[in-house]
Amino acid sequence: MTALGSLPLSRTAFDRDGNARTQPGFLDGIRTDARTRAVLVRGRDVAVDGENLDLRLCSQRENTEQMVYLGTTVADENGVATGTPVVAVRADDADANWAPLRQIAATLSERDAGLAASSVAVLGWHEASGFCSRCGAATIVDHAGWMRRCPSCETEHFPRTDPAVIVRVTDAEDRLLLGSNSAWEAGRYSLFAGFVEAGESLEAAVIREVHEEAGVRVTQPRYLGSQPWPFPRSLMLGYSAQLESDQDARDTVPDGDEILDVRWFTRAELADETSGVLLPGRSSIAHAIIEQWLVRE
Ligand SMILES: [Zn+2]
Repeated sequence: MTALGSLPLSRTAFDRDGNARTQPGFLDGIRTDARTRAVLVRGRDVAVDGENLDLRLCSQRENTEQMVYLGTTVADENGVATGTPVVAVRADDADANWAPLRQIAATLSERDAGLAASSVAVLGWHEASGFCSRCGAATIVDHAGWMRRCPSCETEHFPRTDPAVIVRVTDAEDRLLLGSNSAWEAGRYSLFAGFVEAGESLEAAVIREVHEEAGVRVTQPRYLGSQPWPFPRSLMLGYSAQLESDQDARDTVPDGDEILDVRWFTRAELADETSGVLLPGRSSIAHAIIEQWLVRE
């Protein structure tokens, strides 16, 4: 648990059973195990049954499907017993009810949120990792789906996660700075965010990103919590920061490219549902960071 409480896609309740992945032939055994259940993934959609994942029996599926071992369940839930092996498979079942993970994350159970986040993340990595980034040869899946090995140059490739910082900036009057992105509909505002660059610390990324996007310098970056955001492979690291004392709150300048408008909001302004301001969706860490600020003090 973090300062932000329980974030939708950070919740997890299964045993990743990482040591089992390297056993020879392990995935073949799991594939044919009559107990094994499969999370079905199509792009960034998952198969659902009501508000739960539709965990289908794996032994009845084609054995040509791309498959990753996720681990075992740790409690009885929705007809699936404790200790059941679960895999992620890339599928396109016509009779499945498909839902976008980023829209349903907040309503899934702890178990299903963790299974779904890992499934979409690791299968998304496979989709983009068929060839060795060092020599270009086709790579071979190993470690029950958690590694790809190059048969030509022997390089081992593991699922990538790209860290990104997302920042709550406040000023001396305790107002919150938000930006409106050029890719969004009119009236939508959120926190400033961006990828950590090669060789950069998280704290330096916080200060750089806010300066690039909003034109002002901030200080005292403080870590709030993290959430995987597998669309396709980010890890969002939430921070708070304060406007530097020598900066004037009126000096904000949107970068004009990614960010078209930058605005300071009071709590009353953000809480006013008639303001026309649209805020981030429930699944996002941005939503949790803004909510925490709204209800504080
Ligand atoms: Zn290679």
